[in-house]
Amino acid sequence: MSGEAPIRVSEIFGPTIQGEGVLIGEPTVFVRSGGCDYRCVWCDTLHAVDPSFRDEWRPLSPEAIWQEVERLSGGRPLTVSLSGGNPAIQPFGPLIARGRAAGYGFALETQGSVARDWFAELETLVLSPKPPSSGMATDWSALDACLAAAGAKPRVVLKFVVFDEADYAFAKAAAARHPALPVFLQPGNPVEAVRSGSESADLPAMMDRMRWLVEQTLADGWFAPRILPQLHALIWGHRKGI
Ligand code: SF4
Repeated sequence: MSGEAPIRVSEIFGPTIQGEGVLIGEPTVFVRSGGCDYRCVWCDTLHAVDPSFRDEWRPLSPEAIWQEVERLSGGRPLTVSLSGGNPAIQPFGPLIARGRAAGYGFALETQGSVARDWFAELETLVLSPKPPSSGMATDWSALDACLAAAGAKPRVVLKFVVFDEADYAFAKAAAARHPALPVFLQPGNPVEAVRSGSESADLPAMMDRMRWLVEQTLADGWFAPRILPQLHALIWGHRKGI
């Protein structure tokens, strides 16, 4: 893989468990890229988004990343989770090819603003359009391009973070555009604790939002989604690198 474009990496860590969505609870190693084309007001991974953290991001070759993934996983194949920031803006194709040749699988989560042909080499693609409370607007043609790039191979799911009723309505309307895709709802967590540098999650507030979202969805008779909290926040709070 020499001579291939470097990938801007914020952190590589694990093995841990996936804390969200369709792979929740599954052992994984995370490769978190640095940089994002969005600026969601409640982003909880600012260290992988805000350019003020750029000094912490490392341009690594696919081979260097692969060696770290192999070391962390002890050479035992598992799912590698590509996260960010927006991992879709990084050249992950060669890393995926290297890992797949060794029996590893790859999952990627993105807001769906940038399509890549290597989406078709993933095992799981999580498209997570950002709702109104994020302050961002979804480009639906870009999301459709992500679906087209993925094609038939990867499992593709939709995931929505929901803070309020407007977000809920957004999630329901967006899910209706893609009735064949599994849908996951996740209550938005208070980010004040993250921004303050505290490692503790506000568990009562998280559970309040979880209850509200479950009750809202069931009362509405919308039975398609699975509704899940952020498992890693429940277990470890906002500690980085877990
Ligand atoms: Fe943060 Fe994700 Fe929004 Fe980017 S898309 S700013 S990583 S929440």
